[in-house]
Amino acid sequence: MKKLEKLYEGKAKMVFKTDSPDHYIIEYKDDATAFDGKKKGTIEDKGVVNNLMSAKMFQLLEKQGIESHFVELINDRESIVKAVEIIKVEVIVRNVATGSMVRRLGVQDGLVLDPTVLEYCLKSDEYSDPLINDYHIAAMKLATEDEMQQIRDMAFKINAFMREVFFNLNLNLIDFKLEFGRYKGKILLADEISPDTCRFWEIGTNRKMDKDRFRQDLGNVKATYQEVLQKVQTL
Ligand code: UDP
Repeated sequence: MKKLEKLYEGKAKMVFKTDSPDHYIIEYKDDATAFDGKKKGTIEDKGVVNNLMSAKMFQLLEKQGIESHFVELINDRESIVKAVEIIKVEVIVRNVATGSMVRRLGVQDGLVLDPTVLEYCLKSDEYSDPLINDYHIAAMKLATEDEMQQIRDMAFKINAFMREVFFNLNLNLIDFKLEFGRYKGKILLADEISPDTCRFWEIGTNRKMDKDRFRQDLGNVKATYQEVLQKVQTL
C-alpha cells in the first residue's frame, strides 16, 4: 500500500491517506503532551511502544469479537488501519478513581469504583475535551442512540477483557480512554491502546506504569513504557 499525503497530525500520531480509499496509514510519534498541551516533551521510542502494543491489543480484542480499525503492522512505527470516520466522543472507563476524576469530584485517589464509571468527553482540542453526557451527544448529533448503545456495550466488554489480561501481567487496569469510528455502517474501535491512553498500577506496589510517569515527572519514563510492551508481547 502506498503512503500518500498527510491527512491529519495530532499530538501523538499522524494519519496519511493511501492509494486505497478504505485505508489510512498511522504513524506514531515520540512527542508527549499532558495537561491539555501545557506540558510538552518526548519519550524516546514511545511511538514504537504505542504502535506495537496497540496492534497486539487490537488483535487480542478481535478474537473476543471486538472489531477495530486495525489491519496490519507495516513496521515499528506505522500501521495500516481502516479509514473510519472518528466519532467526536472520547469514552473514558474508570475502575479506580484517579487523575481528573479526583481533581473534579474530590473522591479519594485510589478509590475502587463499583460499578465501573463510564464518562464521555467531547473530542475537541479547542475546548479542552470537556465532559459531556448522553443528552449533549444526542442534541449535538455526535452519535445516534443506537451507536451509543453499541459503544457502551463494546466499552464494557473491552474493560472486562483488558482487566483480566493485565491482571495476569501483574498490572491493575485503573482507567483508559477509547475512541470509536464509523466504517461501512459499523462501529469500530479506533485510535490506540497504550500507556498513553491507559493507567496501569503494578499489583502489590502500586508503581505507576503509564503516562503518569511523564505527567508527574516520576522518572524512568522510557524504561517503564518498554517494560509494559515487553509484558504485552508475552501474550
Ligand atoms: N486519557 C487520554 N486522552 C485524553 C484524556 C484522558 O488518553 O485526552 C486517558 C488517560 O491516560 C487516563 C484516562 O483517559 O488513562 C482518564 O484520564 P483523566 O481524565 O484522569 O485525565 P488527566 O486529566 O488526569 O490526564
